Amino acid sequence: EPTAETLLDVRDITVSFDGFKAITNLSLQVPRGSLRVLIGPNGAGKSTLLDTIIGKVRPERGEVRFGGQVISRLPEHRIAGLGICRKFQAPGVLEGLTVRENLLLTARRNKGVLGILKAPSAAEHARADELLRLTGLTARADIPAGSLAHGEKQWLEIGMVVAADPELLLLDEPTAGMTAQETAQTAALIHTLAGRHTVLVIDHDMHFVELLKAPITVLHQGQVFREGNLETLRADPEVMEIYLGR
Ligand code: ADP
Ligand code: MG
Repeated sequence: EPTAETLLDVRDITVSFDGFKAITNLSLQVPRGSLRVLIGPNGAGKSTLLDTIIGKVRPERGEVRFGGQVISRLPEHRIAGLGICRKFQAPGVLEGLTVRENLLLTARRNKGVLGILKAPSAAEHARADELLRLTGLTARADIPAGSLAHGEKQWLEIGMVVAADPELLLLDEPTAGMTAQETAQTAALIHTLAGRHTVLVIDHDMHFVELLKAPITVLHQGQVFREGNLETLRADPEVMEIYLGR
């Protein structure tokens, strides 16, 4: 049930694609300032849920509320403007620019071409420095983004999303393709972010999920199958069954 602390309130939504129900009567509440993990087998509806939250996909039933306001009938750019950002929505990294230049530019994208051409102010440089520290990329600030390792590029993309200072940050499989060490660093980064933003992370790497130490919602066949912590879920034979594939 939603409370005063609920930031994201997904209420009984159903989402269909040509009659196929990708999500059925799903409800999910995420408290302000919390970190929530969403797991579930392939095709469970995880990405569709994020698409619905950001307004890319419309629920045929139910609604999504953000800070009490119904957002599920707003256009995508209005929802983004309210402070909901999904990582893959970040304008792609510009490989020929340095890491710092990418961060400086992102903070300006909404200011038009003239805004982009102006020299960055001291405050903008300070903000870029802060984002570099946050993402662990300070030592890489002046190399072309195209030379970053895969994991570093993912952190830069997270930094570019965080530059917009979203209230709700949605991350869809942020550790895909990462090494174990990069995965652990990503978990640490997400912990830092969760102190300042509300964060909803999708992943199915159990090692990563373990490091996040956050409440977990398990989706299965478009519905919430279980909610709980990792220990409880690991001890649940039905959860293990949908995970391990029968
Ligand atoms: P997950 O992210 O949990 O792997 P998805 O949300 O991507 O799952 O997909 C849920 C179900 O909806 C899958 O069966 C998928 O094939 C279907 N689906 C997702 N997007 C579309 C779409 N645009 N058109 C048709 N079917 C879709
Ligand atoms: Mg997905």
